[in-house]
Formats: sequence, C-alpha cells, structure tokens
Amino acid sequence: MKEVERPMENKRTLDFDAIVVGGGIAGLQAALDLADQDFRVVVIEKDASIGGKMIRLSKVFPTLDCASCITTPKMAAAAHHDNITILTDCDLQSLKRQDGDLVATVTQRPRYVDLDKCIGCRQCEYGCPVFVPDQEEGGFTMRKAIYIPFSNAIPQIATLDVENCTLCGKCAKVCPTDAVDYFQMPEALVVRAKTAVMATGFNLTPLNQKKEYGQGQIQNVITSLQMERLLAPHGPYQRVIRPSDGKEPDSIAYVQCAGSRDKSLGVPYCSRVCCMYAIKQAMLLSGALPLADITIYYMDIRAFGKGYEQFFQNAKAMGIEFVKGKIAAISQTSDQNVTLKYEAQEEDGRLATRDHDLVILSLGMVPDWNPAGICNLPTDSDAFIRCAMPQTAPTRTELDGVFVAGVAAGPKDIVDTITEAGAAAMEASIYLKSIANERAA
Ligand SMILES: Cc1cc2nc3c(=O)[nH]c(=O)nc-3n(C[C@H](O)[C@H](O)[C@H](O)COP(=O)(O)OP(=O)(O)OC[C@H]3O[C@@H](n4cnc5c(N)ncnc54)[C@H](O)[C@@H]3O)c2cc1C
Ligand code: SF4
Ligand code: SF4
Repeated sequence: MKEVERPMENKRTLDFDAIVVGGGIAGLQAALDLADQDFRVVVIEKDASIGGKMIRLSKVFPTLDCASCITTPKMAAAAHHDNITILTDCDLQSLKRQDGDLVATVTQRPRYVDLDKCIGCRQCEYGCPVFVPDQEEGGFTMRKAIYIPFSNAIPQIATLDVENCTLCGKCAKVCPTDAVDYFQMPEALVVRAKTAVMATGFNLTPLNQKKEYGQGQIQNVITSLQMERLLAPHGPYQRVIRPSDGKEPDSIAYVQCAGSRDKSLGVPYCSRVCCMYAIKQAMLLSGALPLADITIYYMDIRAFGKGYEQFFQNAKAMGIEFVKGKIAAISQTSDQNVTLKYEAQEEDGRLATRDHDLVILSLGMVPDWNPAGICNLPTDSDAFIRCAMPQTAPTRTELDGVFVAGVAAGPKDIVDTITEAGAAAMEASIYLKSIANERAA
C-alpha cells in the first residue's frame, strides 16, 4: 500500500491560546510553563512520538543523569496536562496572522491505527512478519512494519510503516480492539491561537559531501547518536560492541568537529555540544569497557558551561587520551579496523596514522526545519531562526507574537535549551496578557 493522493476527509478547526511547534525538550518545557499559567496549548509534532533527541540519549553531561529519567516525566506531564493537546505525525503547512489570530494549517498523516481504539498491547507488532532496520536504535536492530516507536514513546500507540507493509492482514487479525485501519486518510486541521513558540530543534550534520570520513561506507564508523543508543541502558545490545562483527572494541576514537566549523559543508559554526557529549560518552565507555583505550581527536576543546571544564579535566584524569589533530581521511583496514589519517598539530603538523577498532563521528547540528514557504520567519545565514533582539530578548523572532526556543534558534545544550524554553513561555504569556488587556480596554 503506497501513499496515494486522496481528498482530505474533513477540516477540523481547533482553538488554543498558544501553538508550540516541536515536541522535543524545548517544546515540552515551553508548553508546560504556558499550561501551568492556565493557557490552552497545542503541541504540533512531526514524529510519531514526542521527546525529541533527548529521549534518545543515554546519560547527560555534566551530571551523568539518565536522560530518559528526566525526559519521560516531562513527556508524561505534558500528555496528562488538562491544558495541553498533543498532535503527532503532523506537518505544518502554513502559519499566518489573520484578523489578529495566528492560523496554522496542519496535515496529520495517517498512522493506519485508530488513536482512540489502540491500547498499545503490541499484539500487532508480534504478529507482523516484516522486519525493518530500527532507526530508533541506530539501525542496529530490527523492528516490525507495524510498531510502537520505542518503549517510552508517547503516545503508546502503534504506527504502520506504509513503505514496508505488505498488506498481509495479520496485524488487523490479531488486534483485540479492531484498531488497525488500512484506509485511514490524512486529515487537514486548522489551528487558531494568539501566539506560537517554534521549538523545531536540529538534525545531525549530513556528511554526504565528506566522503573521506566514510560515514555509511565503513561499518565501524558510527555517529554519536548511534553511540548514545549503544550506551543506553535499554539500548540494542545492552552492551557496547562494534557493528561489523560484534566484538567488544579495545580501541575507540572520536573525531571532533565532524560536520562543524567546516565551510565545505556549509556549517562554519561550532555546534557547541559535541566536545562535551564526546567527553561524556568517553567517560561512559571507560565504565562499560574498562580495558579499552579511548582517544579524542580534536581541534579545540570547548567546555563552555558551568562545571564543564572540571568534567573535561576529570576525563583526562580517567586516562582518556586527547590528541590535537585535524582528521584528513578515514579508511578501513583488511581486518575491519579503521585507520585515521591526521595532521598531528602537537608534532609540527606532520601527517600521522593510527588504527582503531571503532570510530565515532562527533557530528554537528543543523536546523531540522526550514520556514521557507510555510511562514515568513527570517533565518540567519546559518539557517537557524533569527532572534530579533539577541541581547535583550533572545526568544523573540521578527514575527509579532512568535517566539523561538532551543536548538531551533542555534546549537545549545539541554540546560540552555530548558532555560530558553522557560523564557519563550514567559514572553508568550506576557504577549497573551497584553492582547487580553488591549481587548478589555
Ligand atoms: C549525540 C548527542 C548527545 C547529546 N548529549 C547531550 C548531553 O549529554 N547533555 C546536554 O546538555 N545536551 C546534549 N545534547 C544536546 C541535546 O540533544 C539538545 O540540546 C536538545 O535535544 C535540544 O532540544 P530541542 O527541543 O531544542 O530539539 P530536538 O530535541 O531536536 O526537538 C525538536 C522536536 O521538534 C520536532 N520538529 C522539527 N520540525 C518540526 C516541524 N516542522 N513540525 C513539527 N515538529 C517538528 C522534531 O521532530 C523534534 O521532536 C546531545 C546532542 C547529541 C546530538
Ligand atoms: S499488514 Fe503490514 S503491518 Fe500488518 S502484519 Fe502485515 S505486513 Fe505487518
Ligand atoms: S493496533 Fe491493536 S494490536 Fe496493535 S498495539 Fe494497538 S491495540 Fe494492540
């Protein structure tokens, strides 16, 4: 069953005080802060679950707290809040001011499972015969063609992957609530509100133009998000092994600034979090594989936040090796190891090579969303949403009543993201109150 052009079934109009676009940690925090002040909020999320990148992380720097222990309660609080409505699988089509209101048109993609009937029992998943690489687990394990996105996904409702489904009918047969609906259609929604917070976050820098780094070509070169899954307590293997042969790696390397501070990729800026997350992962790896050698190849270490320099010094004291050198090329040896060719900056810049069992690319951050064609929200030269008053009101955009939070405005860590989300919610609340006062006057 492939996607077919079908007429929109109906057009529901929904009214709220505030729209939050993006259900990552920034969007959830902004929604909760607004809802706690009694404003009615809708969270529009494009994925099948809220939670953003943070729910996919293992532990977080600098405290090494479990990421899902922080994110899951916020996801649940938003889902159960009387003033918050969450709409998943949604594509924002347009966002405009009309007669003083902000009007968003949204298409909710079909899940092929009835949201009101599904009880999340996973019988469909067990019954489905089709296996597909599970990108939620870094592509290391398989999922079914109908599945619940991940164990703590919200909502806990199955979703059918129409690209891989063979329409065998088994899931519908075993579903105890008759929830599978192969004929579900996209729904067009009109959402009206007075204000909006854009919290659309980031993606990892694509390295398609950087063939010399071997991503997707060399099995034992993985991304930092894949390593987060390997380190997660409920990750794909519950231990760290390398993909090619399941061997526990004895020698692990991190390549810093892979996709940041690199004009050839159009990403000239520093992504700010990669040094810190690489140090965090290296520390976690030292615990998981005490005998492994871990080396971080870097240009500069940017440990910018409170307690971060100490975190870096602790990593050095634990025996993690830091080598100042720009990686020129990554290749594979005949025994599936990975050779790094680098400019050793502390040895007169000579070209050196070293082999490792497993290499992690510390990829940078690029915006996940481009407003072009959807709303006239200006972006900066780096494509992140432009802040109108970066020094005095950093969450204000150039559109009246539209605010921005988290990585949608530029690379940042979780602490800064949550702080900024609180500030955006406060700005939105002041805006809502000022409109109410104007109307009352
Ligand atoms: C490998 C790695 C490890 C990290 N480790 C740490 C750490 O240990 N400590 C730390 O402080 N930081 C860490 N970070 C940074 C952290 O992940 C971010 O600071 C944080 O996730 C930003 O949250 P966000 O809500 O702004 O963005 P996101 O998490 O990207 O959430 C954005 C949400 O918006 C949705 N969205 C996007 N576009 C649209 C649209 N058009 N319509 C609707 N929805 C949309 C997305 O699907 C997503 O759910 C790490 C980052 C990486 C890559
Ligand atoms: S109909 Fe599709 S999703 Fe359902 S069991 Fe068959 S292959 Fe899996
Ligand atoms: S679709 Fe049916 S079988 Fe699948 S999780 Fe939902 S209720 Fe259970």
